[in-house]
Amino acid sequence: MNDSMPLPDSQWPVLEPGWVWLCGAGPGDPGLLTLHALNALRQADVVIYDALVQEAILDWAPQAEHIYAGKRGGKPSAKQRDISLRLVELAKEGKRVLRLKGGDPFVFGRGGEEGQTLVQHGIPIRIIPGISAGIGGLAYAGIPVTHRDVNQSVTFVTGHDQSGAATGSLDWASIAKGSQVLVIYMGMKHIAHITAQLIEAGRPTSEPVAIVTSATTPNQQVLETTLGTCVADAQAANMQPPAIICVGHAVSMRQVLDWQSQIGGTQPRNLDPLGRGRPAESA
Ligand code: SAH
Repeated sequence: MNDSMPLPDSQWPVLEPGWVWLCGAGPGDPGLLTLHALNALRQADVVIYDALVQEAILDWAPQAEHIYAGKRGGKPSAKQRDISLRLVELAKEGKRVLRLKGGDPFVFGRGGEEGQTLVQHGIPIRIIPGISAGIGGLAYAGIPVTHRDVNQSVTFVTGHDQSGAATGSLDWASIAKGSQVLVIYMGMKHIAHITAQLIEAGRPTSEPVAIVTSATTPNQQVLETTLGTCVADAQAANMQPPAIICVGHAVSMRQVLDWQSQIGGTQPRNLDPLGRGRPAESA
């Protein structure tokens, strides 16, 4: 493919005409693309990309036509069915099609639905996973989604369903009881409803919460708050989507692991935020 790739050409998959590759672009920072994504960008005839894909990433595909299929930013929105059928059409025209989606294509990204439509129409596909915002975005905020002292499970949950309504079908009480750390995608619109349900189900109002907006981009903002105060705090800080909301004591680890502030010279405030007497790796 290219001398600058770390494997010989013959070992990189070839994007053949008539194929569609469904590919994750990661949460924002172009450095979080995979090498498979880069390999795809360099071969595509057409790249159909979502709103959350940073436009700088498209610079890796100067030879390709770039088609915006997002649903944000004041641009006209494309319907999911139309996007899927457009992919089918382009593939049938014999194009090498790269469908580039924010984060990971199979995490709240409708990649599964697009893949289904393509397969139903006999279009061959390849899936290229990406770093999901709920993992990589939180890592950029210094929040580990699992930590031995905090949680043995983590729940990824969406804040609204297909209709845009609060996820009525979700059993928030079970989620509240079942998982020490919750990572909520698309949660800003219904944050008041969600936090109220969690508190009603017994999560303490003092529980740490972080809201990370535009994670991994130059506009990243992190708000540390609590379950009881996050609605008011988010409003006061004017936190705007896209946002990941993390609920749980994993958020406290930011006091040690907020590596971006450390780059700026801030010293860690507390090396043992969980009070476990284990500031560093031991036994
Ligand atoms: N497939 C994507 C998620 C798409 S759903 C992934 O794996 O990350 C869109 C939601 O993802 C947004 O509403 C927001 O909750 C989250 N998201 C995506 N990119 C984000 C970013 N850079 N910062 C914060 N949240 C992000």
